[in-house]
Amino acid sequence: MGKITIAIDGYSSTGKSTIAKQLAKALDYVYVDTGAMYRGVTLFAIENGFIDEADANTAGLVESLSRIDLKFVYNESLGFAEIYLNGLNVEKEIRTMGVSRHVSKIATIEEVRKKLVSLQKAMGHEKGIVMDGRDIGTVVFPNAELKLFMTASPKKRATRRYKELLDKGEDVTYEDVLKNVQHRDYVDTHRQISPLKKAEDAITFDNSDMGLEEQFDRVLDYAKRVIEG
Ligand code: C5P
Repeated sequence: MGKITIAIDGYSSTGKSTIAKQLAKALDYVYVDTGAMYRGVTLFAIENGFIDEADANTAGLVESLSRIDLKFVYNESLGFAEIYLNGLNVEKEIRTMGVSRHVSKIATIEEVRKKLVSLQKAMGHEKGIVMDGRDIGTVVFPNAELKLFMTASPKKRATRRYKELLDKGEDVTYEDVLKNVQHRDYVDTHRQISPLKKAEDAITFDNSDMGLEEQFDRVLDYAKRVIEG
């Protein structure tokens, strides 16, 4: 088989993007982090006053969607693409707790999903792509040749995310991070439009007790088996 499409879905902070990035590198495929796109729209909404602590001005944001330009630009020295919002690199800004708190809400908006899903489909046109998110195997690429559904216990995931945020110098508590992970799981699995769920033909991959190296070896093995037929 030639190049394939690889869809990686799963709960928040299951390490989808770490594995997806490594896999794309090993196969010389393009990697796309769709969570970064929903985070980019959320950052735009915050910066433009469409969100306050209590609620989001959905109608205002929807009217402004055409003003949101999201692009991935490959960073040679990092070895992966970074996201640009209206011409500015926002990789760092989109990973803060401020954005994490609102992103799942913004991701329930039908027009936002329509816009991002159509961009994602276009990016996968030529295959040779590893895309991670929540609805990749179910909605964006239902015909992907390899689909993984990643999961791990909420406590393991919160511990990993908490360490990452501390390393970045964010002032957060473990309880806040755990709550955020659980909240996003709930909203992501209960929303009306394309909720997070395992595609019927996806392989479930629980990495609660697996190191990075073991995960990567296994996933690369799955991919090679499909590619080599
Ligand atoms: O992957 P990450 O945790 O960065 O995604 C942030 C949020 O974006 C998720 O919690 C989810 O609400 C939303 N998302 C989505 N569909 C995707 C990717 C992300 O709804 N394909």
